[in-house]
Amino acid sequence: MTRHPTFVVALFLVGALGEVGLAARGATPSALERRCIPAGCVAAPSNIPDILGRRALPAGRLDVLGATMELHHGLLGQQPAGVAALAQTAPVRAALDAAKANEPRTIEQQISFCQVPAPPFQEAARGRVLSRAFEEAGLSNIRVDRVGNVLADRPGLAARPRLVVASHLDTVFPEGTELKVTRDGPRLRGPGIGDNCRGLAVLVATARALAQARVQTPGTITFVANVGEEGLGDLRGVKELFAGELSGRIDRFVSIDNAGIGITNQAVGSHRYRVSYKGPGGHSFGDFGLANPAHALGRAVAKISELQVPSHPRTTFTVGRLGGGTSVNSIPFEVWMEVDMRSADPLALADLDGRFRKAVEAAVAEENARWGGRPTITAVVQLVGDRPGGSTPANGPIVETAQAVARALGLTAPLSEGSTDANVPMSRNIPAITIGGGGTSAESHAPQESFDTTDSWKGTQNAVLLVIALAQ
Ligand SMILES: [Zn+2]
Repeated sequence: MTRHPTFVVALFLVGALGEVGLAARGATPSALERRCIPAGCVAAPSNIPDILGRRALPAGRLDVLGATMELHHGLLGQQPAGVAALAQTAPVRAALDAAKANEPRTIEQQISFCQVPAPPFQEAARGRVLSRAFEEAGLSNIRVDRVGNVLADRPGLAARPRLVVASHLDTVFPEGTELKVTRDGPRLRGPGIGDNCRGLAVLVATARALAQARVQTPGTITFVANVGEEGLGDLRGVKELFAGELSGRIDRFVSIDNAGIGITNQAVGSHRYRVSYKGPGGHSFGDFGLANPAHALGRAVAKISELQVPSHPRTTFTVGRLGGGTSVNSIPFEVWMEVDMRSADPLALADLDGRFRKAVEAAVAEENARWGGRPTITAVVQLVGDRPGGSTPANGPIVETAQAVARALGLTAPLSEGSTDANVPMSRNIPAITIGGGGTSAESHAPQESFDTTDSWKGTQNAVLLVIALAQ
């Protein structure tokens, strides 16, 4: 890929060091954020031109707060002015120009990716298309992992830090959905055209722009088209990413998902359950006196409906579906409900989860007691969804860098909360955000989903500059 003289892009980010070092140990990053650590301020490695006139750090070790951290990074901190300067350097300028010039191709790929089906748990065909696109964009070591994630590398001067940039392959649409994308002026229409064909197209466009501009980053970038983001996919793609081959070797994570320029830095975690109440069941008249699973379920729903939850961060619950029973004149032998709980605060979610489980059990005990105390009713609680919650601080280096990147391009990037692939790294205190891929989408998750391409190249540039800024 890079056979020509290479340019090295070095940006000095105060605080990134502390965040990443601590994150690797699972500690909270806040203690060290935005501090220049004197012991770390040492001379730049001689093979890295210091294009911004600042110093970079070699790999090494650093003792902070009694813990020895491995240093892999050439960076010390968040300096928005540094991002603006970075954007003006020749190789970065070239990459940004390439991103803009290539936008018609990016949109073409967005359409073509979208016409390949990728229902939940059936992402392989679209994965093969992304694999070829990665190759054409100059990436190396392309491979597919155990669950179907497609990975490809863009080696830096060093293996670390490693930035992972990921976009999810899967859609919410079932097998057999008509996937033809139509175009009406600047507007594209088709299931998944924004979520997440836009993310996939920008992922590939970023790799292509870096290759064309021959940008050589100090750190390594791994590009991933991942499975399992939507619904019952339960983030299995990114969970595998952090458990598999790259376990312990991901320093920063950016997901590109759907449209816009916003940054998701609050991960709304969720627990989803299917609860079944079971008993012997019988005739409504002849067997009257038996404990009733439907009545137990009703008791549980009444208790759940009275649970108190914090409003900051927003913590929610719902009994979303219920069913079961045999006939109107029967004591049912089985009834069930599905329950969804969410919060960006893992402790609030865990607390709510505990009270929900108590309610389920108390309902069993009360229903059995009501009819003489024989344990005829039981409850089976099945976890059907577990998305970990967490957050990346708004003043953390990765968020401030992403905002500085948007500003440097004349854009604004509002912060938001959401449930995305970045939930997984955030729950592990690894610096992570999800960004949009530019353009404007509407009616995500609906068959009439649309994407407005007006100025969408700005989103591609945003991704390109962010990836360069974080790959150091
Ligand atoms: Zn999405």
